[in-house]
Amino acid sequence: MRATALLRRGGSDSTQEQFTQPFIIMQQHHATVQQMADVFDVVIVGGGPTGLACALEAQKRGMSYLVVEQGGITDAIRRFPVNMTFFSTPELLELDGIPFTTTNVRPSRREALQYYRKVVESRRLNIRLHTRVERIQRNENRSEKDRAKDSEADSHAHPEQARFFVHTAAQVFAARRVIIATGYFDVTNRLGVVGEDLPHVSHYYDEPYRYAMSSVVLVGGRNSAVEAALELWRHGARVTMVHRGEGIGQSVKYWVKPDIENRLKNGEITAYFSSIVREIRVGELVIEHLHTHECRTIQADFVFPLIGYRPDEHLLRSAGVEVHERTLVPYYHPETFETNVQGLYIAGSVACGCETWTIFIENGRMHAKLIFDHICSNKNFVGFEHL
Ligand SMILES: Cc1cc2nc3c(=O)[nH]c(=O)nc-3n(C[C@H](O)[C@H](O)[C@H](O)COP(=O)(O)OP(=O)(O)OC[C@H]3O[C@@H](n4cnc5c(N)ncnc54)[C@H](O)[C@@H]3O)c2cc1C
Repeated sequence: MRATALLRRGGSDSTQEQFTQPFIIMQQHHATVQQMADVFDVVIVGGGPTGLACALEAQKRGMSYLVVEQGGITDAIRRFPVNMTFFSTPELLELDGIPFTTTNVRPSRREALQYYRKVVESRRLNIRLHTRVERIQRNENRSEKDRAKDSEADSHAHPEQARFFVHTAAQVFAARRVIIATGYFDVTNRLGVVGEDLPHVSHYYDEPYRYAMSSVVLVGGRNSAVEAALELWRHGARVTMVHRGEGIGQSVKYWVKPDIENRLKNGEITAYFSSIVREIRVGELVIEHLHTHECRTIQADFVFPLIGYRPDEHLLRSAGVEVHERTLVPYYHPETFETNVQGLYIAGSVACGCETWTIFIENGRMHAKLIFDHICSNKNFVGFEHL
């Protein structure tokens, strides 16, 4: 019933013009429920690969939708190290079967950015760029009559029927359903030591040329730290690695591992394993061996703690989503991705909490279909599991 109602408004090959996109929005200070004209079927927060996959699903099903992205298209990928290469082959990064053509076995960041931009352009996705979502508010003032209309797909629904208001700095978007697809790249894990916020310390590695002939310390022993170490060494930096593990991480890509092992064996890159950073100062940092507790001061013109990421839990919590205290994994149903808040879904790598190695583009893009199958099946929330 639900799917039929939705498809009537566009069908699978509908373009954006074939159905009405609600344009609502007003200055936040004056935003009241009464003033809002229309309601989106779905507002998608985050324009990464997963957010785009959700937009493609919404479009195919003829639903009114809006993607709200704080930066440019796939902005997290834009902020990846400039010369990075994906470990996935191109077909595993594709959305909705739109071909990702490249002669490389593993596409570069630039190729992926180009691909996702073309997806947005060619499918004319409805995306609002450079607009950060500050909070998601549940509409607590809905009448029983409005709630009864939750299953109807009517883009001209009155704002009272909105379940959610999605707040940005300047605007408020009303939505029947919200999908949070904000990934994890905005929030980095921290060392928690003195000096971590000094100007020569960065939790994001960018490119190598700035650091030639300088001493650079990479903290961490997984892919990000190892790949940065190798690139910096190849571009003339004096590279030291500090890692709390006893050796290079097990998850380091199998084609990268021999390279770093040989650099370490030859003394071209120095590594201190079983060691943690105690303090960062201008030009140097202090490390401590975990077993001997011996402290050592090493030279460091630049320091990159590359020790992982965590999702922005505040946005989730603002919407009432329960989040596991330790892992930051949100509570959601594993088959539908609906959270403990009815009508609010999570998608993509935000769902993995701090366990960022469990969800990536390859599997995160699959969430979109499951979510929209659930929305269109019009089943109500059936409970959630603590993952
Ligand atoms: C160096 C590196 C290499 C990787 N290589 C691979 C690989 O080879 N294969 C693979 O499958 N995965 C890879 N990954 C993982 C993959 O990049 C992520 O899993 C993927 O980007 C997740 O997609 P997403 O859309 O869920 O989140 P993201 O790509 O992080 O997109 C989230 C988007 O939400 C936006 N956003 C965040 N907060 C807000 C807000 N409040 N308001 C509005 N917008 C917001 C962000 O700007 C961002 O554009 C790699 C990750 C890294 C860091």
